[in-house]
Amino acid sequence: MKVCVATNNFHKLQEIQQAIGSRITLLTLREIGCYDELPETSDTLEGNAIQKAQFVAQRYQIPCFADDTGLEVEALNGAPGVHTAYYAGKERDALKNNLLLLKNLEGYSNRNAQFRTVIAWVWHNEISLFEGVVRGKIATQLDSGTQGFGYDPLFIPEGFDIPFSQMDIATKNAISHRGKALKKLIEFLNQRL
Ligand code: IMP
Repeated sequence: MKVCVATNNFHKLQEIQQAIGSRITLLTLREIGCYDELPETSDTLEGNAIQKAQFVAQRYQIPCFADDTGLEVEALNGAPGVHTAYYAGKERDALKNNLLLLKNLEGYSNRNAQFRTVIAWVWHNEISLFEGVVRGKIATQLDSGTQGFGYDPLFIPEGFDIPFSQMDIATKNAISHRGKALKKLIEFLNQRL
């Protein structure tokens, strides 16, 4: 069974392939010949995930799932939320995003935050949504761990005292927002396929 994951992010692909196993062959956007900029104009994670998956499924005639993730910080009223990827600017620079978050949280003792992922599965006229949440805290300084991507050097998941940037993929998948949403998607696919 071939399925497109609407991403070219290698780290994400690795995490997803490891969680999904070998029964399903995941193809990236490039592998299906899609070099389009995917639409992502909604003001919700759900809306963006549906837009991306629908675009690929319809144009390339392949079952597709797309995810959209937001980091929701309590003291910042849920920001950066749907703007997580480009918090510090259009170039989507992870280091700049992390530094801006640290700056905006200066002086706050409430460091509570959560990552929330929504996955949209689209094939023919069917749309299904799967959500995963991991709660945690934003560290007060950048960690130098080399695993992961994005805000991993700042995000310490609940029940741990190390950030995602010090965890291997399997450990992160077991507790992460994307891991939890993926688990729901995989259960769904196992019943369907
Ligand atoms: P996306 O919707 O999965 O592309 O995620 C939006 C942004 O959230 C990414 O550009 C990253 O900055 C951040 N992000 C998503 N997932 C993770 C994660 O697992 N760790 C750290 N940052 C993440």
